[in-house]
Amino acid sequence: MKRIAILGSTGSIGTQTLNVIRRHRDLFSVEVLCAGSNATLLVEQALEFDPNAVVIADGSKYEQVRDALASTNVKVYAGESSMVDLMEMDSIDMVLAAIVGFAGLKPTLRAIECGKPVALANKETMVVAGALVTASAIKHHAPILPVDSEHSAIFQCLVGEVSPIDKILLTASGGPFRGMTHEQLSHVTLAQALKHPNWSMGRKVTIDSATLMNKGLEVIEAKWLFGVEAKDIEVVVHPQSVVHSMVQFHDGSVKAQLGVPTMETPIQYALTYPERIESHLPRLDFSKYPNLVFEKPDRTTFRCLDLAYRAIERGGNMPCVMNAANEVAVQQFIEGRIGFLDIADCVEHAMQQAVFIANPTLEDLFLTDKTIRNQ
Ligand code: NDP
Repeated sequence: MKRIAILGSTGSIGTQTLNVIRRHRDLFSVEVLCAGSNATLLVEQALEFDPNAVVIADGSKYEQVRDALASTNVKVYAGESSMVDLMEMDSIDMVLAAIVGFAGLKPTLRAIECGKPVALANKETMVVAGALVTASAIKHHAPILPVDSEHSAIFQCLVGEVSPIDKILLTASGGPFRGMTHEQLSHVTLAQALKHPNWSMGRKVTIDSATLMNKGLEVIEAKWLFGVEAKDIEVVVHPQSVVHSMVQFHDGSVKAQLGVPTMETPIQYALTYPERIESHLPRLDFSKYPNLVFEKPDRTTFRCLDLAYRAIERGGNMPCVMNAANEVAVQQFIEGRIGFLDIADCVEHAMQQAVFIANPTLEDLFLTDKTIRNQ
C-alpha cells in the first residue's frame, strides 16, 4: 500500500489522481490532501478518502474545513507553511506535486529534501529552480517521476536504454489557435483561449497551451529532468496528441510513446513505476486516426516558445523571471485586463528589464519572483 500526499488535490491533475487512487484502493491510500482555496471540494475529498491530514492554503477557509471535518479523525491545517511542514511526515510514501505555478516550489522542494519520491506535474518548479531541485533530488536520493504526458512519454522511451540520445522530440498539440496569424490573434477572446482541442486542464496551463508558453516551460522541464541541452530538444506540433513525445537515439532510431489523450495514464504510471497496472481507460484505436500530422511550430507568431528557449539559454534566474512574468500576464489576461498578444510582450519586457543572476540561490529566486510580480 503506497500512502500518497497530493499537493493541489482540488485541481485538474489532483482530481484525476484521486480517480486513479479510487480505482486502486488495494494499492494506494491518501495520506495528505492540500488545496488552495476550494474548501468545499477539499472537504468532499477528505470525507471520501479519509486522509491523515488536510491543508487549506487559504487561511480564511480554515474554520469552514475544520468544522466540516469535526466528526472525523482528519487533522486540519491552514497556510503554506503547514503544507511545507507536512511533507516531513514519515507516513508519506510519495508526493504528487500538482499545485499550479511558483506556489508549488516550496512544498515540492521540501518533499525532495525529505527524500520522498515525487510524481511531478508542477512544471513551474523545474522551470524556476531546475538546477537546485535536481541537485537536491540527487543529494537526498529522491526520485522525480514525470507526470506531464510529454515527459512521461520521454521517460517511458528511455526505460532500459543505456546509450546517449541525439535529441528529444517534444510534441505539442498547437493549442486552439494553431495556424492563426498575428492579426487574427489580436482579436481572440478568453473563452476561445480556454477551449483546448484535446485536453481538459486548469485555466493557467490551458492559456499557456494557447500561447505555446506551455511548450516552452516543458522544454525547460525536459532539460532538467533528462539532462539534455535545450538545443537538443525539438518541438514538433502534432495536433492529434496521440504521440505524446519521442526520443531519437544516436543510431538514428526514434522511439515514441502513444496513447489516447488522458492524463490518468501518465499519473498512474508515475504512481506505479516501474510496474504497469491494469487500466480501464479507452485503448488507442488507430482506425480513428488515419492521419497523424507533424509540423514545425510557428515561433514567430507564437513568441512565447522562443522566449523560453532564450530564457533557458541565458540560464541563471532568467527562467524564473520569465515564469513570474508569465504567471502575472496570464492572470491579467484571464481577468480581461490585457489582450492575448500582450502576454508575450509582458514576458519579453520583464526579461529585458530584469537584474540577471548567473548562479541564483533559492533566496535569490524567491526575491526574483517577487520583484518581477511587483513590476
Ligand atoms: P488547476 O488550476 O486545475 O489546479 C491547481 C491546484 O493548485 C488546485 O488544487 C489549487 O487549489 C492549487 N493551488 C493553487 N494555488 C495554490 C497555493 N497558493 N497553495 C496551495 N495550493 C494552490 O491546475 P492543473 O491541475 O491543471 O495543473 C497543475 C499543475 O500541473 C500545473 O503546473 C500544470 O502546468 C501541470 N500540468 C497539468 C496538466 C493538466 O492536464 N491539467 C497536464 C500536465 C501538467 P484550489 O483550486 O483549491 O484553489
